[in-house]
Amino acid sequence: MLVEPERTPYDLRFRAFGFPVRVHPWFWIGSALMGSQLLKAGPEFLLAWVAVVFVSLLVHELGHAIAFRRFGSHADIVLYAFYGLAIPTHEVYGRGRKIIISLAGPFAGFALCGLVYGSQQAFEWADPRRSVLVWFVYDRLFWVNIVWGVLNLLPVFPLDGGQVSRELCGRFWGPRGKRISLKISFGCALLMVAYSIFCVMDMRGAGAGFTALFPSWFPPGTVFTAILFGFLAYQSYQLLGRSAWEDHHWDDRVPWER
Ligand SMILES: [Zn+2]
Repeated sequence: MLVEPERTPYDLRFRAFGFPVRVHPWFWIGSALMGSQLLKAGPEFLLAWVAVVFVSLLVHELGHAIAFRRFGSHADIVLYAFYGLAIPTHEVYGRGRKIIISLAGPFAGFALCGLVYGSQQAFEWADPRRSVLVWFVYDRLFWVNIVWGVLNLLPVFPLDGGQVSRELCGRFWGPRGKRISLKISFGCALLMVAYSIFCVMDMRGAGAGFTALFPSWFPPGTVFTAILFGFLAYQSYQLLGRSAWEDHHWDDRVPWER
């Protein structure tokens, strides 16, 4: 599961829309590593990439945080390498509310994407003939928010889609729902690994060139998505084992002691 990273003296702290935000030093390192091949184009492109990741992740977490506030809980935002957290100060109850909170992150990203696209249509602030760097910022802001939003909606733990899937499975199958959603998560993550490996092999010329036929808006899998979903598949598998144990061992502690 995603755990809150420890506090460090190098954390950047500020407030956004009234929510305390803490940026862990690993955020900068992880984001720079993710875009390290941009250094070939120039350090300004790498800096622009880190800025795009920063804004996109912050907007995503703000989406969750604003939904928490709507349901009566304050929230702290933490940005870490490859993920962010919106940590509520109070538990929010109800499947419908939890689903709305989970969806609020990706949809905040889609809203940002719409804003970026709409402002470009209205003002044409990005033009590759005038500035390649500004165009790069426009292009990445647009695609990062679409692609990450869609990936996040996959029913894989602990992504937002995995949280929605758990609530929906609980709604339909009651206590069995948690295990069913973990099986869905495991299967879906394995499919993503297979898809990513297929795309990587294909793009290296080992396949029949199928990825070249994808429409430009359809994201191919990468080494990064193969590793990420491989890790998430393993995590779901472990959680399945643990939930099988919990189902067969009586735990007589009262819920608030667990
Ligand atoms: Zn999220």
